[in-house]
Amino acid sequence: MKQYVDVIVPLPIAGQYTYSLPETLADQVGEGCRVVVPFGKKKFYTAIVTKVHRTPPADYTTKDIAEVLDSRPVLLPRQYALWQWMADYCLCTLGDVYKAALPSGMKLESESVVTLNEDFEADGPLPEKEQRILDLLGTDPEQCVTQLEKSSGIRHLLPVIKSLLDKEAIRMKEELKRSYRPRTEACVRLTPPYQTEEALHALFESLHRAPKQLRLLMKYMERSGWSRPDGQVQEVQRQALLEAAGAAPDALNALLKKQVFELYRRETGRLSLREQATVAPHPLGEAQQHALQAILTTFGQKNVCLLHGVTASGKTEIYIHLIEKVLQAGKQVLYLLPEIALTTQITERLRRIFGARLGIYHSKFPDAERVEIWQKQLSDHDFDIILGVRSSIFLPFKRLGLVIVDEEHETTYKQQDPAPRYHARNAAILLASLYGAKTLLGTATPSIESYYNALQGKYGLVELTERYRNIQLPRIELVDIKELARKKLMVAQFSPFLLQQMRQALERKEQVILFQNRRGFAPMIECRTCGWVPRCKNCDVSLTYHKALNQLTCHYCGYTFSIPRSCPACGGVELVNRGFGTEKIEDDIRRIFPEATVARMDLDTTRTRTAYERILTDFESGKTDILIGTQMISKGLDFDRVSVVGILNADSLLNYPDFRAYERAFQLMAQVAGRAGRRDRQGLVVLQTKSPELPLIHQVIGNHYVQMYREQLAERELFRYPPFFRLVYVYLKHRKEEVLDEAAVQMALRLRHGLGERVLGPDRPPVARIQTLYIKKIMVKIELSASLIQVRRYLLDVQRTLVAEERFRSLMVYYDMDPY
Ligand code: ADP
Ligand code: ZN
Ligand code: ZN
Repeated sequence: MKQYVDVIVPLPIAGQYTYSLPETLADQVGEGCRVVVPFGKKKFYTAIVTKVHRTPPADYTTKDIAEVLDSRPVLLPRQYALWQWMADYCLCTLGDVYKAALPSGMKLESESVVTLNEDFEADGPLPEKEQRILDLLGTDPEQCVTQLEKSSGIRHLLPVIKSLLDKEAIRMKEELKRSYRPRTEACVRLTPPYQTEEALHALFESLHRAPKQLRLLMKYMERSGWSRPDGQVQEVQRQALLEAAGAAPDALNALLKKQVFELYRRETGRLSLREQATVAPHPLGEAQQHALQAILTTFGQKNVCLLHGVTASGKTEIYIHLIEKVLQAGKQVLYLLPEIALTTQITERLRRIFGARLGIYHSKFPDAERVEIWQKQLSDHDFDIILGVRSSIFLPFKRLGLVIVDEEHETTYKQQDPAPRYHARNAAILLASLYGAKTLLGTATPSIESYYNALQGKYGLVELTERYRNIQLPRIELVDIKELARKKLMVAQFSPFLLQQMRQALERKEQVILFQNRRGFAPMIECRTCGWVPRCKNCDVSLTYHKALNQLTCHYCGYTFSIPRSCPACGGVELVNRGFGTEKIEDDIRRIFPEATVARMDLDTTRTRTAYERILTDFESGKTDILIGTQMISKGLDFDRVSVVGILNADSLLNYPDFRAYERAFQLMAQVAGRAGRRDRQGLVVLQTKSPELPLIHQVIGNHYVQMYREQLAERELFRYPPFFRLVYVYLKHRKEEVLDEAAVQMALRLRHGLGERVLGPDRPPVARIQTLYIKKIMVKIELSASLIQVRRYLLDVQRTLVAEERFRSLMVYYDMDPY
C-alpha cells in the first residue's frame, strides 16, 4: 500500500502538504526527518516530515517526494510541539516557525545559489550527473539550482547538489555567512594489502631506489604510530604528511598509483571541544544561600520562579549552583541571554566551572557552527548546558531540566520581524513545561507582567535586596539640564557637574560610562534657511547622519544618500546637524578629553561578534577610559573600575508613544546605574534631565521598583493594557496608499462586528511606510477571560474574507501578539 507523508515547507503558507513516497523510498522516512519536495513551478525545497501514513488526500493528487535527507529525525516530538504552539499563539504558519528555527545550512532549496570551488580536485571519476553540473558551472561559475536544473535536464537536482557540496566541489554562495558543509580534510592511509608486517617489509625493500617515496612511507609510519606497541593507528593528514616528509605531491601520487596508499576525507568539527580544567564554583554568601534554598522550595510547588535581585546581588552565582544541581540529576540546562554582548562575560564564568559541557549558540556564529551544535544535541554526546540568545529555544533537547531566562525584562527577547513574533521568555516557559522542567526568570528590574504573575501566585517569587558583600548601590545625583541650558552653562550635552566628576574619575584612573538612548532622536541634517530635512525615499523617516561615513542612512531599509552640497529645496548652503546620537557624543568627548581613550558601543560599531568582544575586552582590561553606548551597555555587564555613569538625557527615554515607556525608562536607568561602583567603593550616577519633578526620576533615584510597579499597574488597569488585557496588533501593508486605507477601514469594520469595542484604529504607526510599503495598524485589546482560540479564529476568518476580494488581493496582513 502506498505511503504518504505530511510535511512542513519553509514558506509562509498555512497548513501542511501531503506527498507520496515512491516505491524506492518506501519505509525509509520517519517523522522529524527532512525530505526534498517539489513545490510550485519546478521549485524544490527541504521539507520536514510530521507524519507518515497511508491516507491519500481527498482533494488533490500527490506528488512524490524527491529524496530523503535524514535517516534519523532532526526535529524531536517536543520541538515540534513547541512549533505548533508558536504558530498557533503567534498567528503565523508552521513554515514561518520552521524558517526561524533551523539554521540555513539545513534548508537547501531551489533558489540557493551555488558556486564552483576552483580548488577542488576529484579523488576519482565523479558520477555522471555530478560531472555534468561541474561542467555547467565551469562555463558560468555561479548559478542557482533552478537554472542548473534547466540546463542540465536533471530532474531531481537537490540530492546531486548536496553530494557535490559534501565533496566540497561546489559551495553555497552565501556559504561564509550562511550555509553548512562539514569541514573535511584529506587523509592518507595504507590500503588493506599493505597492512601486514610482511607486505610492508617487502615494500621497504622495493622502494630503496625511490628515496622520496621511502621517506614519505617512513614518515607515515612514524605519524600513524604504526609500529607502536599498542597498535593504535592515528589518522594522518595529507598536507601535514607532505610537509613533514618535505616531499612533493609527486612522491605521494606515485604511492597512490601503486595502491600502497589511499586517500579519504575526514570530517573535522568546528566546535572546540577541548577538555578543560574546571574549578568549583564560589561558595555562596548567606543571602545567596537563602535565595537558592527558596528557589528550590518554590520549584517543589511551581514551575516558574522569578528571582528579583538588585544589580550585583550575585544572581549569576546562584544560577551556577542551580545548574550544578540540575546536571547532577542528569538533566540539561538552557541558559538564555537577551543579547550577544553579554555572552562573552558569562561564557567565561561558566566555562571555568563547566568546561566542555557548555555549548554556545548565537546568531552571529557562522551558520555551519549552528548546524554542528544542532546535530550534536541530537547525538549521544550532547551538551549539558546551552548558553544562547532567543533562537536557542529551538534547539533539540533530550533531557531538559531547567531553563534560566536572565534579564527577563529585556525587550530583545521579543522577536519583531519577520514572523514568528514570539517572546522568548514565554516560549521558554512553554518549552520547559513540555519537558516537565522548571523555569527561572532573573532580573534586577522585573517586567510588569512577570512581577504581576509572581504577586498573583502564578510564579514563585524570591527577592535579594542587597548586593553581594553588601557593596553599596550607587549614589544618584540629579542634574536639571533645562535650567543649565537656560543659563548657557551646558557644554554640548554635558553639565559642568558631570564633566567635573568625569575628570576626577579619570585622574583616579577609574572608568566612565556614558549612556545615550538610541530611541532618542537620531542625528539628522536640516537646512538652516528653509528647514528641509532629507528623508528616505522608501520609508517614512528622516535619514540619520553618519559622520564617519559622511553619509545619510535609513535605519529601516539601509538606503544611503550622500550629503548634498546645497539644499535641494531652497538652494541654501548651510546644512546643520540636529539632535545628538552616540556618534556625536563620542566626537564631543574626544574634543573635551583629548587625553582619554574613548570607545563607542552601539549597533553601528558592533556589526560582528569580534567587534563586541574587542570593545568589551578593551574596557575590562582598562585600555578604554570612557565607554559611550546605547542600551546595549545597560545589560548586566560586570565591570570593576567604573566609578561614574552618566545618563545624558533621561527625558528622551520617556518621549515615545508606548504604554511601556515608563517601565522601560525605569529599567534602563536602574540597569545603567547598576554598572557603577561594583567592588570597593560606592559609585556615582549623574542623571541629567529636563524634568526633575517627574515621579519616575525619583523612583529611579531611590531604587523604588515596587512604587513604580504599583503606579504603572494602576494605569495599565485604567487604560486596559497588559497584564490586565492582551494586546494584538494587526498590521496591513500595501504598495498603494488608497488601497491600504480602504482595506484597513474594512478590516476594522469587520473586526468590530464580532469584537466590538475591543478594536481600536486603524492608525498610522510612527513609521508609516517601510521599504516602499505603506502600513496601517489596528489594535485589539482582549480581556484575559476571553477565549484566545476563538479570537484568533475570528481574526483569521476576517482576514481570509478580506483578502479573497479582488481589490485586496496583494494586501499583506500579519499579527503581533503581545507586542513589545
Ligand atoms: P548579578 O548577576 O546579580 O548582577 P553577579 O553574579 O554578576 O551579580 O555578581 C556580582 C559580582 O560579585 C561578580 O563579580 C561576582 O563574581 C561576585 N560574586 C557574587 N557572588 C559571589 C560569591 N558567592 N563568591 C564570590 N564572588 C561572588
Ligand atoms: Zn528606508
Ligand atoms: Zn533649504
